[in-house]
Amino acid sequence: MALINEHYQKLAAGYLFPEIGRRVREYEQAHPGKPVIRMGIGDVTQPLSPSVIRAFHEGVDEMASAATFRGYGPEQGYGFLREAIAERSFRSRGADISAEEIFVSDGSKCDTGNIQEIFGRDSKIAICDPVYPVYADTTVMAGKTGPVGDNGYYQGIIYLPCTAENNFIPGLPQEVPDLIFLCYPNNPTGTVATREELKKWVDYAREHKSIILFDAAYEAFIRNGEIPHSIFEIEGAREVAIEFRSLSKTAGFTGTRLAYTVIPEELMAYDRQGQAVQVKKLWNRRHTTKFNGVSYPVQKAAAAVFTEEGQREVQATIDYYMENAALIRKNLEACGYTVYGGENAPYIWVRTRNGMKSWDFFDLLLERASVVGTPGSGFGPSGEGYFRFSAFAARENVLEAMARIRDL
Ligand SMILES: *Cc1c(COP(=O)(O)O)cnc(C)c1O
Repeated sequence: MALINEHYQKLAAGYLFPEIGRRVREYEQAHPGKPVIRMGIGDVTQPLSPSVIRAFHEGVDEMASAATFRGYGPEQGYGFLREAIAERSFRSRGADISAEEIFVSDGSKCDTGNIQEIFGRDSKIAICDPVYPVYADTTVMAGKTGPVGDNGYYQGIIYLPCTAENNFIPGLPQEVPDLIFLCYPNNPTGTVATREELKKWVDYAREHKSIILFDAAYEAFIRNGEIPHSIFEIEGAREVAIEFRSLSKTAGFTGTRLAYTVIPEELMAYDRQGQAVQVKKLWNRRHTTKFNGVSYPVQKAAAAVFTEEGQREVQATIDYYMENAALIRKNLEACGYTVYGGENAPYIWVRTRNGMKSWDFFDLLLERASVVGTPGSGFGPSGEGYFRFSAFAARENVLEAMARIRDL
């Protein structure tokens, strides 16, 4: 008899996006003449940039001739790409990271989930609330939690509430976690962490031999020059942090797939005897055993992102999204809403009015304006009473959606 991994049955139903889809379909069937504007799901809308497409095509052409054909490549990624990433993403910002510390993959979603596998089953995990749902769900799948409680929290996870009261930056927890997921710029709140705030976490992790799992999927959206793009810009972080980066939002790679995970040489975790083990070595073992590398043309395309020209193009697309974000902020503020984020991130986090529940606000917007956003409570209990707008949309749709919300 085949037994299942029963931890999967603890998962609170993958509720958020299917439920949004269901309500939107129902609405569309009932109101066929009213086009719905989607500002809910965090997927990009602009195409790959010209130099990326050119490199992508070149990569494909190389596969067409025996002289330039490539089979299996290095699982960790081609040297040309890892070098380009180390230089452009890290060393140019004063973060001392070498190509050998970079593991190229097909996504940060997979990496943030898979990383759990190299740490002990008993590891205590700290997760912000609200946040990207992958961290908690993969912790449950790994068998590191009890069932979900009435408060929406899984037993055994240390939750770090992030609300307007703490500027969406959690305080240090009472109970000491072994692994700490941090995501800045944040999905869904759109807020950023200053150098001082990150330093506080790095110092805490060093004191307790904890490891920070830092998701920087949105670093390219940072506008404020004082805000660090990488945790490795913080002194001491090489001893206590892993960073996840992705070209998904940075360069429109959500359908092309390329991300990378950075694990410094110095980062250690411990066996039961207290003996230090290099984390990078464990991840290398896992990655080379379970993953066979990203396709060559995609790595060629990705390398183009890290050229002068590629950076200019990618920034122009990000500017477009950030102009959307500014429009959304301005219009919602003019309507009297309190808004957060949207200045260094593509997400705008809105406080509903008069204590309205997130899903009630969702229904109101859908019914009265045919606009779809994301209920904050879907990202965690502390998101109740908030609502997320995404700046990943066509300009005309943003303008139309804002006009409809003004007329509510
Ligand atoms: C979109 C997103 C990612 C990127 O995931 P990929 O698998 O690389 O597409 C990672 N983290 C967060 C918080 C995200 O919102």
